[in-house]
Amino acid sequence: MIQLTSATAIETAITKARTVKTRVHVNCFGSYSVMNKQTGATYTVTCEKRDGKRFASCTCRAGELGRACYHLAAAVAAHIQLAADKQAAH
Ligand SMILES: [Zn+2]
Repeated sequence: MIQLTSATAIETAITKARTVKTRVHVNCFGSYSVMNKQTGATYTVTCEKRDGKRFASCTCRAGELGRACYHLAAAVAAHIQLAADKQAAH
């Protein structure tokens, strides 16, 4: 589980997410399945908000070690988009 403080903190992971072809499936708001299209490996990324702070975690090895992996970055990007859409709907 890592805390999302700013976009720069996961910038490296975001860059990697752009080079690796991923597919993000929305399980529900805050839960995403991220698939590496090349290997077919799928991991679950969870995004949550606690005490006004944003946290995210991934089930892959890097994620378990508390690193911002590209799955997490791809899911967070989708999550932010989804949150913005939700806000716009209100
Ligand atoms: Zn991961």
